[in-house]
Amino acid sequence: MELSEEQFRRYARHLILDEVGEEGQEKLLQSRVLVIGAGGLGSPLLMYLAAAGVGTIGIIDDDRVDITNLQRQIVHATQRIGDLKVDSARESLARINDGVTFELHPLRLDADNAADLIGRYDLVADGSDNFATRYLLNDICTRLKKPLVAAALSPFEGQLSTFKAYLGDGHPCYRCLFREPPPPGMVPRCEEAGILGAVAGVVGTLQAVEVLKEILGLGDSLDGTLLIYDALKVRFHRIRIAKDHECPTCGVAAFANHA
Ligand SMILES: [Zn+2]
Repeated sequence: MELSEEQFRRYARHLILDEVGEEGQEKLLQSRVLVIGAGGLGSPLLMYLAAAGVGTIGIIDDDRVDITNLQRQIVHATQRIGDLKVDSARESLARINDGVTFELHPLRLDADNAADLIGRYDLVADGSDNFATRYLLNDICTRLKKPLVAAALSPFEGQLSTFKAYLGDGHPCYRCLFREPPPPGMVPRCEEAGILGAVAGVVGTLQAVEVLKEILGLGDSLDGTLLIYDALKVRFHRIRIAKDHECPTCGVAAFANHA
């Protein structure tokens, strides 16, 4: 693939980095990333991925823009209240970079459609706000051997990790960390608990950095660790996640099944 004149100018600040260069930019342009949720995390994530020239971006979201979203979901706008979030997001993103192909999936990810959708992409970024989706993504991405960059929010805190449990020993999955989802209603979602909007911006932006690093093969991966951002105490912690060899998703027995 040859970069066009316009691409040379648009990505000039990537191209002058030894760590990216033409080869790295071409990798980004040829990559296919699936983003789950065009919400608080998905907004900055999508904007930076589009700006960086990730060639094809899939967006899954079945929701519509609501006025209560706009305090944190910065990819949307007041005039688009009532529109599908995938349409609203595409409008903003195409304004940032019209060289990106967007594949819109206005649906809810479930056990019936997940494998087919995820199978079409190189990497998945989870910005969803519910445990059913989080566990489903973990299980299917492990099975299909797709890297999963997953983030979660609480009112003043964010968590971020990358899962590549299909690589075997030393590579845990989300279920190694939390075997089962909490009982319904135990952990309130943003809608119920509230959130300082900019916290979603910090974590969604970190998520974008990790997605780009995974595609480019740059630096340290978060694989095997969990990054925790505490906004009130202004602290970042990074803790190690142990692989659970009994894990139903990525443990010994599970892998025998997958092979
Ligand atoms: Zn596991």
